[in-house]
Amino acid sequence: MKTLVVPGGLLLAAIAILVHSGWLTLPLPALTFLYYCAVFGGLLLAWRFHSSRIFFSLLVLFLAREATTVLAAGGASNPWPRALQMASVLVPLNFILIALMHERGFTKASVAPVGLLLFSESVIVAVVGAAGGDLPAHPHHALAKATLPGSTLIVFAAAAIFLLIHALLTRKLADSALLWSLAAFFLSLRFVTSTRISTAYAAGAACILAVAIIENSYLLAYHDELTALPSRRAFNDALLRLPQPYSIAVVDIDHFKKFNDTYGHDTGDQVLRLVAARLARVSGGGQAYRCGGEEFAILFPGKVTAEVLPHLEQLRATIAASEFQRRGADRRQIPRGPDRRNERARGRARKGHAIRELLREAPAGALSVTVSIGVAHSTAARTAAHTADDRPHPDLVLEAADKALYRAKANGRNRVETATSVRRQKGAKAAGIA
Ligand code: GH3
Ligand code: MG
Ligand code: MG
Repeated sequence: MKTLVVPGGLLLAAIAILVHSGWLTLPLPALTFLYYCAVFGGLLLAWRFHSSRIFFSLLVLFLAREATTVLAAGGASNPWPRALQMASVLVPLNFILIALMHERGFTKASVAPVGLLLFSESVIVAVVGAAGGDLPAHPHHALAKATLPGSTLIVFAAAAIFLLIHALLTRKLADSALLWSLAAFFLSLRFVTSTRISTAYAAGAACILAVAIIENSYLLAYHDELTALPSRRAFNDALLRLPQPYSIAVVDIDHFKKFNDTYGHDTGDQVLRLVAARLARVSGGGQAYRCGGEEFAILFPGKVTAEVLPHLEQLRATIAASEFQRRGADRRQIPRGPDRRNERARGRARKGHAIRELLREAPAGALSVTVSIGVAHSTAARTAAHTADDRPHPDLVLEAADKALYRAKANGRNRVETATSVRRQKGAKAAGIA
């Protein structure tokens, strides 16, 4: 829901408030300048970030806006010339097409057909406009009392519903940006009689698309695409802002390499998503991160080990009890990445045999997975590391949690170990208890 409304919906709401409250006092040339900045800045960003879908959407808006300003006039008997109707109806249709496109960057195969389509549309609109003798002497004046034709309204409404459903299904920022940008463009047509308002909304439509690229690159940097958990960068940032005390749990999937080797990398990825989904729902106020590969971390601000231990134990048990069905046959039975080396080591002649072995080993039923967890809290790490420094450094806490994880692995896996347990054992030994 958040990706649907932020930032596109908020931006449109802000522009609407500015425009209709009278707070927007910028003169038309300034608004026009902003509009061009948004369009060309957006095109540049889209090109730099290989976002061909946003690039084409901006191009569609730009061409339609140019057509609108050129054609937005005509005889009083025909307030919405045919060419202008065409130009406005083509925008929602093109947006639907762009929504359905797969993002393939700027390859010849993706650019050529869309470029050709947009060129053909522009030629047709120009020819229809010229044939209708609609070219204006004074743009906009004839539209003074015009309302949008019913057919245009229907096409926009249908496209908006389509884009809304599509954005809800894909949950992609670019898709929600298409929806809000179309809404802003619709308003620029609705208020075409007031050039200032219309230009402000057109600038908004372009701005929504440009901002989506920036927001998306932020998301890519701070979120892991595979599991949708915050990434290591987000984890490092959070470490700097942690209030005292805090606990850090490090989570590692048990025998994950074997999992990859047996069922293939795709199934390995499914397992990662399954584990991540459970981690995301950890209780006790923890926030999970994917720190890399099959290693995760959970931060518990304001909590010490004793307080988080029951939550981690419950998490471990939930993951161990979860079963999941392998989704279809693996497209890639030979694992990729580091695992491929094993395959090569076995030799080409044995490859067919290795695949048969993988298939035979794969059971038809559900799979399950376990995790090992090491946990430490800020003050425990200070004592464990014997630092004179009074300030418990997050790196020390992390190191202590890592050591606890190592012990969890050594003690048989599928268990939670704490950094304090070692001290307790050591203390007990020294006292002659154990
Ligand atoms: P242990 O119980 O000791 O942790 O054994 P392990 O096999 O899990 O050992 P380790 O943690 O070293 O395994 C890491 C493996 O994780 C290596 C690599 O094949 C796999 N891996 C790392 N990132 C990914 C990923 O994004 N997808 C998949 N499918 N596998 C990954
Ligand atoms: Mg590991
Ligand atoms: Mg592991």
